[in-house]
Amino acid sequence: MQFEVIAKCHTTRARVSSMTMAHGTTYLPTFMPVATQGALKGLTSQQVEALGVTLILNNTYHLNLRPGTKVLDAAGGAHKFQGWRKNLLTDSGGFQMVSLNSFTKITEEGVLFASPFTGEPTMLTVRQSFFILLHSLTTGPRVEEAMWRSIRWLDRCIAKHKSSGRIDRQNLFAIIQGGLNPELRQKCVDEMIKRKPDLPGYAIGGLSGGEEKDVFWKIVKQCAEQLPEDRPRYCMGIGFAEDLLVCVALGVDMADCVFPTRTARFGVALTKDGPLNLRLERYRTAFVPIDEKCPCPTCTSGMSRASLHDLATHETVAAHAITQHNLVFQAAVMGGARDAIMEGRFPQYLKDFFRRYFADAAYPKWCVDALRSVGVDILEGIENPRIVEGKGAKWDYSDKPPK
Ligand SMILES: [Zn+2]
Repeated sequence: MQFEVIAKCHTTRARVSSMTMAHGTTYLPTFMPVATQGALKGLTSQQVEALGVTLILNNTYHLNLRPGTKVLDAAGGAHKFQGWRKNLLTDSGGFQMVSLNSFTKITEEGVLFASPFTGEPTMLTVRQSFFILLHSLTTGPRVEEAMWRSIRWLDRCIAKHKSSGRIDRQNLFAIIQGGLNPELRQKCVDEMIKRKPDLPGYAIGGLSGGEEKDVFWKIVKQCAEQLPEDRPRYCMGIGFAEDLLVCVALGVDMADCVFPTRTARFGVALTKDGPLNLRLERYRTAFVPIDEKCPCPTCTSGMSRASLHDLATHETVAAHAITQHNLVFQAAVMGGARDAIMEGRFPQYLKDFFRRYFADAAYPKWCVDALRSVGVDILEGIENPRIVEGKGAKWDYSDKPPK
């Protein structure tokens, strides 16, 4: 993998870089859509590629269960199996382990659990993966134990990777763990930086599990500040526009989340004015696209909010249409950030984005604080801004937004 920093923001820690892998170049910062089981819900690989997406995420835990490694090997690999020609990142599956309640045993070798499909005992081993085995809000000695285990497993992954013969085609990222404890995070960062010659990139894991946003951004900042300049930094599991932009300002290069595709299936379109719940009655006669300036196939085809309102959640075409729009929105947020960093106007980009997104609601205090910590005051010049604690979204981003 070739990684090159192209430009840096003069104020924040944001940067633009290029990451060239076996299946092409991806420009960072970028958002990676999630194709958990080797398919992005609602779109074909060709449709995803046509949107300009150059990097998607698969999940090892899911691929291991279905179709399974035998089928993947027979197909000639994960790319061929899913008909995806661009870059692919596979996540080891710790988050899925967190959400499993049927696993029976965690050992130094791996996790033994009952397959949710067949009920058969299934082993996910270090060979395939390494991950945190705790809920992300867990605290105390178990977090430290898991953090050290993930370092030991990383060493075994490095050894396995070196002997795999795939070192030129696969790149191993270390995942910083340590829960919500800054001291453990520090130990983990220190240990993983020691292994830098064997690690083309770093991920910040174990967040986005329902922790306080104030804790979230401070952990991201702490990790991103210390990770090597010449390695991409990937913050796992974030996808709300405000989270993406704050993380980019803190020095993050990559992010992934199921949010934009999942919320699309519930009829929610993402826009620069905030999320639109197209199921609401007010869209029944809204004969305008989701966003007139959006270049996505849905908006340019003239498909209206009214039409999507009519189809949302009961006709699959609505899920396809809104999913395409939402992925283009995510790409536009990150592409806009790249352009702004290149042109030396990223602080203003942040101010403009937050002002428009939260103008008719209130600014989330955590975003204000996080961005002030890297030299940008998004409230500058705004008279009597409304500020809220907590996530501060216009609605709670739940899967079933209020009617
Ligand atoms: Zn659109």
